[in-house]
Amino acid sequence: MFSTYFELTIFLKSLSNPLTSPDNSPQSSVDVSVSTVFYRGAHSVPENLVFSSQDSVCFYVHLSAFSGAAECAFRPILSAPLSDSRYQTTRIHVPETSEILNIIFHVIYNMSCLKHSPSFNAIVTAIGRMPVYEISPKDYMAPSTPLHELLLHSMSHHPLEVYAIAAHYDVYDIAEAASAHLLSYPLNSISDEIVTQMGPVYLKRLLCLHANRLNALKYMIMTPPTFHAPTESCTYEEQKKLSRTWVMAAAHLVWDAQPSLSTHNLEAAFRPLQDQLSCPECCEIFSGRVREVAQGWSGVKDTI
Ligand SMILES: [Zn+2]
Repeated sequence: MFSTYFELTIFLKSLSNPLTSPDNSPQSSVDVSVSTVFYRGAHSVPENLVFSSQDSVCFYVHLSAFSGAAECAFRPILSAPLSDSRYQTTRIHVPETSEILNIIFHVIYNMSCLKHSPSFNAIVTAIGRMPVYEISPKDYMAPSTPLHELLLHSMSHHPLEVYAIAAHYDVYDIAEAASAHLLSYPLNSISDEIVTQMGPVYLKRLLCLHANRLNALKYMIMTPPTFHAPTESCTYEEQKKLSRTWVMAAAHLVWDAQPSLSTHNLEAAFRPLQDQLSCPECCEIFSGRVREVAQGWSGVKDTI
């Protein structure tokens, strides 16, 4: 069985232009399948290299694709540079599954593989394996690149893992975007493996994001509404009671608050108090203070 993106895989009993394996054994009778993206004739310029995966899927690619950031790609498994004439007639075997190799070639070709819906595990594995073949993931993670797009696409379901990958390669903008999804993440449950992957600097940034938001919340809500001039029905003593009630409600809110607290929930926490007020002036000052706090909270930075 092949992955969905190989649904149209072509089975060949013999290659029209038989290639030989690295050990020069004949392969004309070997069953092989061919990538539906990187097949012979897929591009206007003829392909001149053939890679094969662990599960015997062939990828027809161009030598010219291995320039710039990919100049040293696959060097660790080659005995000569890719430009060596032997690779024009020899299939290059890569000990990776076709799913992983498919992602890696999409990255090298600067093509999006979103249409193949690769699993997140496959994306993580492909990125993790790239350095083994001297392909630097960071070189392909700039904004608007397919790998950048792929990671942002995975962010809502796997924010911590995406944050850790971005942190590992110091790609700040992806980590920044992922951090917005981590406001309710219990930081004390992050595994040692993920902590090691993200490193101390990005771990500190995440810890500071949580701490700074909670500190900002405390600072804003612990100040009660101001007093109005005393009246016969609403004396200073009455208004002091309201202040005390506000401080107690604020302390209760801060005790349980998450950095992800929504402004809606913040306002809702004070609403029962407001509903008890009979003095119109207190009511107006109170609602104004709640509005002020909510506006302040919505302006607190929510990313690293
Ligand atoms: Zn009043």
